Amino acid sequence: MKLILLGPPGAGKGTQARRLMDAHAIPQLSTGDMLRAAVSAGSPIGKMAKEVMDRGDLVSDDIIVGMIAERIDQPDCANGFILDGFPRSEPQAQALDTMLAERGLALDHVIEMKVDDEALVERLAGRYTCANCGAGYHDRFQIPAVSGVCDSCGGTEFKRRDDDNETTVRSRLQVYHDQTAPLLPYYRAKAVLRQVDGMADIDEVTVQINVVLKGGK
Ligand code: ADP
Ligand code: ADP
Ligand code: ZN
Repeated sequence: MKLILLGPPGAGKGTQARRLMDAHAIPQLSTGDMLRAAVSAGSPIGKMAKEVMDRGDLVSDDIIVGMIAERIDQPDCANGFILDGFPRSEPQAQALDTMLAERGLALDHVIEMKVDDEALVERLAGRYTCANCGAGYHDRFQIPAVSGVCDSCGGTEFKRRDDDNETTVRSRLQVYHDQTAPLLPYYRAKAVLRQVDGMADIDEVTVQINVVLKGGK
């Protein structure tokens, strides 16, 4: 299964991708996670990307496309993958089409997760993750069962992203509307686009995604 989760920052792509990854045993390919790993490693890509990410802009298409092209050839992608945060611009979508065609592959679904901008600001302001396993949490909407302890791994250290502050979030939303939202008509024209209500609670969104994956309405 080859799937794109498409939606603005904070829509719940990462949250749902992790659930799908566990349920379907296919990897989540998050370009944001790849870039943050490059930033922590201090690699040349990371050094270049850090400033762009702090501004809330998009990292250059060439770098991103190169990262994904390398990633989908790894053995763990043989049965499919979940793209989270890629593509984010029309050139990236076109590059993905070429990349898939060259490998004789095709997308099964592009799922749009629709959420109002004000809800996104609130979601990103309260977002944090387990420093050990990356499980996602929210101050109000996704609280660990035992306070301060990760449900998935028992870790007790958590972190917040530098770019989840309100100023950067507003820029990221603008960038989404300007550069990423045009992918909706792009995929609609290819008849692979389906929509779920990203405003629903986390479990309900999972249910709606599973309906799409089973080919129902
Ligand atoms: P994205 O990967 O699209 O940027 P995340 O999956 O990281 O978004 O979700 C952003 C924040 O909102 C996280 O803190 C997450 O716990 C929370 N969240 C995700 N889905 C929902 C939802 N349906 N309702 C409320 N909060 C949610
Ligand atoms: P979110 O889903 O919360 O917006 P991501 O983790 O997907 O966050 O992305 C964080 C930042 O990394 C983006 O604001 C952007 O600077 C960069 N980035 C991630 N994916 C891409 C991409 N496909 N193209 C360009 N820049 C990207
Ligand atoms: Zn954890």
